[in-house]
Amino acid sequence: MATRSGVRPREAATHCPYCALQCGMVLHATTDGVEVAARDFPTNRGGLCQKGWTAAELLDHPDRLTTPLLRDRPGGELRPAGWDEALDRVATALRTLADRHGPDAVAVFGGGGLTNEKAYALGRFARVSLRTRHIDYNGRWCMSSAAAAGNRAFGVDRGLPFPLADLGRADTLLLVGANPAETMPPLMRHLTDQRERGGRLIVVDPRATATARQADLHLQPLPGTDLAVANALLHIALREGYLDRAYVAARTTGFDEVRRTVAGYWPAEVERLSGVPVADLEATARALATVDRAIILTARGAEQHAKGVDTVSAFINLALALGLPGRPGAGYGCLTGQGNGQGGREHGQKADQLPGYRRIDDPAAREHVARVWGVDPAALPGAGVPAYRLLDSLGTPSGPKALLVFGSNPVVSAPRAARIESRLRDLDLLVVADFLRSETAELADVVLPVTQWAEEDGTMTNLEGRVLRRRALREPPAGVRTDLEILAGLAARLPDAAPLPTDPREVFEELRRASAGGPADYAGITWERIDADTGVFWPCPDEHGPDRPRLFADRFHTPDGRARFHPVTHRPAAEPVCADYPLHFTTGRVLAQYQSGTQTRRVAALRRAAPGGFVELHPDLAARLGVAEGTPVRVVSRRGELCAPARLSPTIRPDTVFAPFHWPGAARANSVTNDAVDPVSGMPEFKICAVRVERA
Ligand code: SF4
Repeated sequence: MATRSGVRPREAATHCPYCALQCGMVLHATTDGVEVAARDFPTNRGGLCQKGWTAAELLDHPDRLTTPLLRDRPGGELRPAGWDEALDRVATALRTLADRHGPDAVAVFGGGGLTNEKAYALGRFARVSLRTRHIDYNGRWCMSSAAAAGNRAFGVDRGLPFPLADLGRADTLLLVGANPAETMPPLMRHLTDQRERGGRLIVVDPRATATARQADLHLQPLPGTDLAVANALLHIALREGYLDRAYVAARTTGFDEVRRTVAGYWPAEVERLSGVPVADLEATARALATVDRAIILTARGAEQHAKGVDTVSAFINLALALGLPGRPGAGYGCLTGQGNGQGGREHGQKADQLPGYRRIDDPAAREHVARVWGVDPAALPGAGVPAYRLLDSLGTPSGPKALLVFGSNPVVSAPRAARIESRLRDLDLLVVADFLRSETAELADVVLPVTQWAEEDGTMTNLEGRVLRRRALREPPAGVRTDLEILAGLAARLPDAAPLPTDPREVFEELRRASAGGPADYAGITWERIDADTGVFWPCPDEHGPDRPRLFADRFHTPDGRARFHPVTHRPAAEPVCADYPLHFTTGRVLAQYQSGTQTRRVAALRRAAPGGFVELHPDLAARLGVAEGTPVRVVSRRGELCAPARLSPTIRPDTVFAPFHWPGAARANSVTNDAVDPVSGMPEFKICAVRVERA
């Protein structure tokens, strides 16, 4: 299938380039370009959303970058350049900065959309070729709170520890801060199965989203109170005698402290705090506890808070007390967002990790990985800092002076984005590898054009922990290189750097060895094995042994095999409302756009469906403000403001306003968001801050 070999297939069975559902699709080469057809795959079962159907439009888009771009002086224009000139410029600047300030003067920022091979190669390039500890990625802003909570409770972080099809078999499904009807529409087929089998769907969301409107019960808490809601559910479950005593005794530790903690979460008080009626809390606890199979899922709504890890822990505590994890058709899971959000956090582009989900501060892990990389373990740098701290330190006296960005657009996606934009402008060198001129690329000194998904081979790991094959259909346009070729080209220009492979299969073979024995063990996964089936679930240590679609049946991945309860307590949002900023502000996605919108804002059909940002507010609030549908409004926080037309909706709480985060410029939602971060995961508090709204 590799097109670099000169073989050009007329069709390729691959997966959508966007979200973590990784819907199966077939690409056909036609005389007019590339056509997309849906493919029956266990996650999407023949469905695609509008983003998937239109994904091929970007392959030959007029905005596509096909030559490197250089800026010769600050404030000057980007101009086309050759590859040697561009790579020489970057390598020379990196060498100079590292010589002058030390290796940590250079930082790397990756993305949750990169293939496993690229994420792995980026981590190795940073630690071995650059010798910097400063590498992190935008997945820090996506699943890191659920990852941290999963690790501390179960000893491992695999978003869904069971196949997606299990959702269809659940008698009760509790979705917390998830809106798959808009973010992952084909996933709703599994929820339809569940409802047709007589199952109940309960949604926790401050907005009556498209998913919440399909639920049997919708809990609509004040943003930032999910943790209290979870503790109240556990309080009720214990009061009603729903505790699975045998399971808790045999398979967990730490329950007594959690019992004492939730004893204080009286439902009536939690109703006053969250706005969720006691009757709904009781109905939810009953619906989870009195059925055979119940599943609790969290997503960004619950996780993107300065207490995101504790909030997820509260729901895991509830699941453990009811004896759910490890039972077929039951358990706790997180709905991963970005295309390779799962694989992207397993193979070394996170500040504290080495491949295989190993910890970089673990001497045994360092020794294993250093052996694979052919370096002295002592030469590997230590842990870096989480994404926001990293970006906020750029260009400061003690921070990195150069940043290499692969597959990310922090100018739009970072919290408190104006501040991060200013930090990027302070750098001595900003390099962006992308296939479009993103808002971050517009600030760069060097822009390197890369291949797109239909032009490359590799693997992705979807939200189930299922490793999939991305398959190339066609050659990239002349002038475009793969990320692996760029890393190899830079490594070759750096002193003492070992050569990096550019063949993704060769990189995957090395990744297998580097991950062997780690929590995310890919040693038994081969491209042939993935091709022969519908992917392979990790951990899979043995090429001839089974993979693991379901985890935790007999034991958890902790030293004693038991899951850990963690007592957690509610605390207010980092920024409470006040007289000057009396409203809660929350952010999210719309169906027709994806992440920072660099790609989807350029697709004609998606632009027609969702042409620009908006501010959603309740009609009662709008009336108080003298605002009608379409009136331009300004949302102002202590950090900045956004300006967009008002969209009136009775489905949002009157004390809360919402804006999607896909747009730059005046409508940039992240001009407003708070940069307070979770102390464990580094997750910023995207989902709540205090604002006022005025007519623009
Ligand atoms: Fe692509 Fe996600 Fe839409 Fe599926 S749901 S087509 S993976 S964007």
